[in-house]
Amino acid sequence: MSHPSPTILRRIQLLDSAARDRCLEALHNRALSTRTAGDIIGAEIGSAPSSSTIHRLRLRIDTGDLSVPRPAPAVVPDRRHHSLHRSVRGLRILTLDIETKPALSYHFGMWDQNIGLNQVVEHGDVLSVGYKWLGSPVEHIAVWDEGGYEGMIRTVHDLLSEADVVVTYNGISFDEKKLNWSFAKLGLGRPAPYRSVDLLRVVRKHFAPDSRKLDHVAAELVGARKLVTGGFDLWRGAMDGDPRARARMIRYCKQDVCLTEKLYLRLLAWLPAGASLPQIGGTDGCPNCGEPKLRATPKTTSTTAATYTLMSCGRCGSWVRSTRNIHRTTARIA
Ligand SMILES: [Zn+2]
Repeated sequence: MSHPSPTILRRIQLLDSAARDRCLEALHNRALSTRTAGDIIGAEIGSAPSSSTIHRLRLRIDTGDLSVPRPAPAVVPDRRHHSLHRSVRGLRILTLDIETKPALSYHFGMWDQNIGLNQVVEHGDVLSVGYKWLGSPVEHIAVWDEGGYEGMIRTVHDLLSEADVVVTYNGISFDEKKLNWSFAKLGLGRPAPYRSVDLLRVVRKHFAPDSRKLDHVAAELVGARKLVTGGFDLWRGAMDGDPRARARMIRYCKQDVCLTEKLYLRLLAWLPAGASLPQIGGTDGCPNCGEPKLRATPKTTSTTAATYTLMSCGRCGSWVRSTRNIHRTTARIA
């Protein structure tokens, strides 16, 4: 704005910066008609400039004589998914989500029922399981597949036994326990141990979103949402053998698995200690992604007895404590 010669421009110049920016943007933005630009400027300076004045001002903007304020860059959320270092990519990381079928019961009323065990005709159980090995396509298995219920449960038992890490959303309280119950009922014994990463617990511990439902958390953090189920009709259709309902349920379940895996890779820096990938894989590096090169930081972290150097992981953003302590106190509270 080197030549504020026209009266109108001088008046614009006298405005506070926010109002001035609005005026210049209105001039610059060709999506606005001359009249609308004039109305916006007029609202700021008290009277709308003529269309010929606006035309001249726009020409000066085009030639660079008037500088239009650059809008501040929009805050684009960083939804980058982190990746694991190749040294731990050989680990078997299984993301899993189950769908369950409801119990079937006799009941006299419809509202606020308290149903006794002797009224239950058929108990609820696992209906289908979506799963994905990290680095492989998402898969699905259901009671209506070949092998039926028992085949499905045996397959999942094998999957869990093969896994080093099992990633779920609310799986520690729900999916894993439902599956364990099925294993026990079929006399399959306990699957080989694996480390559980329950992302709902991670969200509960570190964040306070408006909702902790997977749909909301995934929308905010990885920019993807759950599919719409259509409610109970979908379950009814899938159980009654409707091929369209079954296909839709499979898509829905697979989408949940994919969201959960994306969320896992997004939340690596927030994972609790206890599922250290390099430890499982017999390597060394960042516990959450396996990156071997960690950056020393000037910060330290202390327990009651010792002080350690803090390091950070440039791959996933985890904070990692060095194993070497740099100061040890001898005095303790009695
Ligand atoms: Zn890392």
